This record gives sequence, C-alpha cells and structure tokens, in this order.
Amino acid sequence: MGCKQIAGFKQATIAVQSGINVDEQYGCVVPPVYLSSTYNFTGFNEPRAHDYSRRGNPGRDVVQQVLAELEGGAGAVMTSSGMSAIHLLCTVFLQPGDLLVAPHDCYGGSYRLFDSLSRRGAYNVIFVDQSDGSALKQALAQKPKLVLIETPSNPLLRIVDIRYICELAHEAGALTVVDNTFLSPVLQKPLDLGADLVVHSCTKYLNGHSDLIAGAVIAKDPAIAEDLAWWANNIGVTGGAFDSYLLLRGIRTLSARVLLQQNNAAVIAEYLQKRSLQKQSQVKKLYYPGLKDHPGHDIARQQQAGFGAMLSFELDGDEQTMHRFLSALKLFTLAESLGGVESLISHTATMTHAGMSAEAREQAGITDSLLRISVGIEDSQDLIADLDSAFQAAATR
Ligand code: PLP
Repeated sequence: MGCKQIAGFKQATIAVQSGINVDEQYGCVVPPVYLSSTYNFTGFNEPRAHDYSRRGNPGRDVVQQVLAELEGGAGAVMTSSGMSAIHLLCTVFLQPGDLLVAPHDCYGGSYRLFDSLSRRGAYNVIFVDQSDGSALKQALAQKPKLVLIETPSNPLLRIVDIRYICELAHEAGALTVVDNTFLSPVLQKPLDLGADLVVHSCTKYLNGHSDLIAGAVIAKDPAIAEDLAWWANNIGVTGGAFDSYLLLRGIRTLSARVLLQQNNAAVIAEYLQKRSLQKQSQVKKLYYPGLKDHPGHDIARQQQAGFGAMLSFELDGDEQTMHRFLSALKLFTLAESLGGVESLISHTATMTHAGMSAEAREQAGITDSLLRISVGIEDSQDLIADLDSAFQAAATR
C-alpha cells in the first residue's frame, strides 16, 4: 500500500485527504487495517516492503506520513504512548553523562521519567523555568545535548518563545524538541519556529476521542527520522495496527474538533474571568493564554494560530469546597487526560501531577486548589450552566 503525498494544502485538507484512496486491490477509500504480525517473503532472501509488524505496518506508515505532513517534518514515528515517544527521544539522543534541559513545570509523567532515569545514571537532567532568561542561559552554559520545550505548559499554560529558546539552544550545540500535545499542529508548528523535533501524546487532541493511548515523534531532518524509526523498532515501542487505524480516524476531524473546542474554551474563560472579578469570587487565579493579562499572551499571539482549549484556575476555599464543587459537576468528568471531545476536569496535585514531589509542585506553582479543564465540543452554554451550578454548590455549606 503506497502513501499518497499531500503537499501545499492547509492543515484541515491534509488531515482529511492524506493517505486516502491508497488501496489498489479493492479501491477502499479508507486505508485497510493490516493486523498480521508477519509478512511472507516472495522467495529466498526476497522480503516484501514489510517483514514484521513491529518494524513496519502499512496502516502505521499512513498515519506516520500524515503526522509528518501535519507538522511539516521529514518523517514521523508513531509509538505506543506519549511517554514511549519521549523515552525514545532520550534513548536516541542521551547517553550517560549527557545533559537534558527540561521545563520545571513539564507534564508530571515526563518529570517522573527524567527524574527516575537520571537517578539511575542514564543521563543528567536540569529542570528550569524557561521563561526566566538568565536561568535558561545558565542551564545552556552546561552544554546540554537536548532541550525539551513544552508550551503551553501543563497545567499552568505558561508560554515560552520557541524561536528564541531554539536559537539559544542551537548556539549551545543542543537539539530542541517541542512537546506539542496541548495545541496540536493545527494551532502550533514548532518545526517552522526552529525546533528540530516535535513530540506528541497522540492520546490527546490528535486522536481526540479518549479511546487510545499513543505517541509520536516527528523530525525535521530525514536522517534523524530514519534513526528514530530504527531505534523505535529496536526497543519495541512502535504503535500497533489497530491503534494506527484509530489514530488516523481521529486525525481526520482534528481541525474541526480543535477549532470548536477552542471557541468553547474562549467562552468559558470569559465566564470564569467575570466570576473572578465578582466581590466574593470563587475563582482565585485564572490561567488562559487568550486573556490579555496572561504573561504569555503576546508570544502566544505570535507563535500560535489560536489560544487552544485548555485552561486552569484556582478554586478559592478548603478541601470541602473542592469536594462540593467537583461532586456537583455533571458535564465535566473528573478524569485525567485532555483533548477529547468530552469536557474533563482534573485536580492536578492529586491526579496528573501526583508523580511530582510536593516541593517540585510548589516550585512549579501548582497549588492544591488548582483545577485544569479540557474543554470539549459540547454546547458552551450547557458547559457554563454546569460550572455555574457547581460554584453555587461549592458556596453552600
Ligand atoms: N506530554 C504531555 C504534555 C502530556 O499531557 C502527556 C499525558 O498527559 C504526555 C506527554 C504523555 O502521554 P501518554 O499519556 O500518551 O503517554
């Protein structure tokens, strides 16, 4: 099964058209799912395009092609999870003694991975506030091999300047990778901003239906893309056949979903901001890059095609208030993860960022009253009514 290249089109068109009509045998519009783990040889020493599904699968080829096209890269590797994609990067680029510079407020699972492996001597890591220019320069002076950027950050939606950090990192001799999970290529194209690599938890917006765990690494340089594919097979982290199909199906509607989710998020952010200005406000702090007073608003305007559909806020009150608020919600499910069509809410300290020590969370500004919302595609007025009744319930003792 070949893979039709889609060049010169906009994201929504690429997402829908790339890889369709590639089945020559039956003319299937949707690429078939090839579940076979192995492929016969046509004769002695005569392999076909694929020999074993860990190394290559026709359906995974298609989704990898689509991912590379969406991010504007030379090649992509789909992996079994976002974490295995991040682990793959570290395996390929970092050896004992090499340094990784990561954001101090990166995704809790990434933090735990870097922290635990560095303790075992796999590589060294420095966690740094990348919006603090002098702290960043100090870290880069130690000549890292790899710099991970996560913007907007999870869960505080801090924005850092990708182009600026990539320039500084390149001067220091490092490769740069951007975790683009929170925006997807519809809203941010890190390779165009100077990054060498992009990593995704495809579990989130790319799939968009909360029914799959997958990841991806996309490389700008074809030689690096090949190297990543070799290592992905070597350590056995490539994505499965059925997961490739699910991911491709999710990507078909990526633009439509993300834009609708983003519109809903803007309406909810406005509502929460109004609440935060009320006399007895229950919204202590609101984090959403679309707000003009958000410290990263101007950079977000420049490097993003929109402000995304994630927001966080601090709920004023004690643990009981939190309990009442969360229990009263009917449309926001209390669950980890993000980017699906359904709205989710998570209490970051006990859920997504429980892998960080209380001290590391404090340093990153993640308080016990912080709630993170992933806005879905429901009707925005229904979502607001749901939040409204939860605020009322929280205020009733
Ligand atoms: N990167 C970010 C920003 C995430 O939010 C997550 C998961 O929440 C990951 C990476 C890890 O992805 P996965 O859960 O697919 O392993």
